[in-house]
Amino acid sequence: MDTPQRSPRWLVPAVVILLALALVVAGFGIAKMLASPETPAAAPATPSSPSGPTGGALSSGDSLFPTIGNRGYDVQHYQIELDYHRDGSINAVTTITANAPAALTSFGLDLKGLEVTAISTDGRPAGWTRDDHKLRVIPAGPVHGSFSTKVVYAGKPTSLTDPNGMREGWLVTEDGATVMAQPMGAMTWFPNNNTPADKATFEITVHVPNGLEVAGSGDLLDQRDSATTSTWVWQQRNPIATYLAMISIGQYEVYKSTMTLTDGRELPLWSFIDPSVGISPAIAERLPKIIRNLESYFGPYPQSSSGIVFDRLEIGYSLETQNRPVITFDDGDWLLYHELAHQWFGDSLTVGDWGDIWLNEGFATYTEFVMPADSVGSDRGDARYYSLLNAASKDSEYWSPPPAPITDPKYLFSQKVVYNRSALTLWALRRQVGAKTFAKIVKTWTSRHRDSVVTTEQFTQLAEELSGKDLDAFFKAWLYTAGQPAQTHR
Ligand SMILES: [Zn+2]
Repeated sequence: MDTPQRSPRWLVPAVVILLALALVVAGFGIAKMLASPETPAAAPATPSSPSGPTGGALSSGDSLFPTIGNRGYDVQHYQIELDYHRDGSINAVTTITANAPAALTSFGLDLKGLEVTAISTDGRPAGWTRDDHKLRVIPAGPVHGSFSTKVVYAGKPTSLTDPNGMREGWLVTEDGATVMAQPMGAMTWFPNNNTPADKATFEITVHVPNGLEVAGSGDLLDQRDSATTSTWVWQQRNPIATYLAMISIGQYEVYKSTMTLTDGRELPLWSFIDPSVGISPAIAERLPKIIRNLESYFGPYPQSSSGIVFDRLEIGYSLETQNRPVITFDDGDWLLYHELAHQWFGDSLTVGDWGDIWLNEGFATYTEFVMPADSVGSDRGDARYYSLLNAASKDSEYWSPPPAPITDPKYLFSQKVVYNRSALTLWALRRQVGAKTFAKIVKTWTSRHRDSVVTTEQFTQLAEELSGKDLDAFFKAWLYTAGQPAQTHR
């Protein structure tokens, strides 16, 4: 879901005016021409008139990835039904329930590749145009308030290559495919509003040939087999960002168990391990202790289930997909701590703009300062702070550019700037305000903004509110300024 903070102040009165005008226009029965659903529609790329219903903007305005996401509506729910075939192709239908505060004559979705064969809005055939990954839907008449859009599509999904050279999205494996979609890859397998600022619930139904299993994010609602087909239904009841929605199709050993959380809740665990990677299923048994330790650092576990997907993927990273991270190598518990920490930072509290990525990776890397000593194999606490600072003092790449905000997408996953400098920032804050106050800040942060979209400014304001200190100079040096903060030189 969007938070009001994401909207520029001028937008609110503008929306009210447009809403009023749209009602007047609707009263006169004026509607846009319906384009044929079979052929791409010819429609103006800009709003038809400044005084009537308009076309929704084809960008969410993200500072790092301005071509993804769209404006003019807020998605509530994605219903995805997908048939996966042995040759790697899919047939799918995605139904999107959304809300448009002002009438829209057209609106954008993001879908890369794949052939669209039909679109309808509120049950009536709609037209559309396509330009690279931008799918512009032109409904039979303006949509306003709650509306639904059904997109029927098919083809062989492919992956994307990011500005930093990493592959993401729909990743083909030896026996199926795995979705790892940070930051833009959600559009490789379903049409969506591809911005982390627009969180929504999901229900994903996948039909696969018998003999394959389907992992997903959320909770396993149903699993049934027919003579030829196996069907898996995954339900996500908390609103999530599209990049965190995951399915993984393949031959898996499925491990189901439960654990007791710190507050007594029973949490289902589903893990999917590809037996061909030769890893012991005992990796899934390491999760309960790690999750309980993370609860002691960050507050109650914010999701309705957990687990991992372990698969053979030659991509060089693991990813914190919602509920169950996709792990591609076993490097000890630190990796599980890192990806599971993202269930709080990134998955429950989601940055609405990718420039604020330090809020995700800083906290996930911070776990290396506090996890049990046998998990990380090096110093903890202040010792880790000083050993990292020692290394960083000799390397200017840790200090430039500053992490808040990142302005060049190639730094999105920068180990030095985004991961380590941000974790050092959090440890320095803890030293500044004291461990007890820091714990209060973190646990208030995760409870106050649970399932929401967050900004750097909200975090720095909360730190000042709960510490009672003026931290402007601290955050200016640690977050907003290139160069090593002066007080860290020894
Ligand atoms: Zn991470």
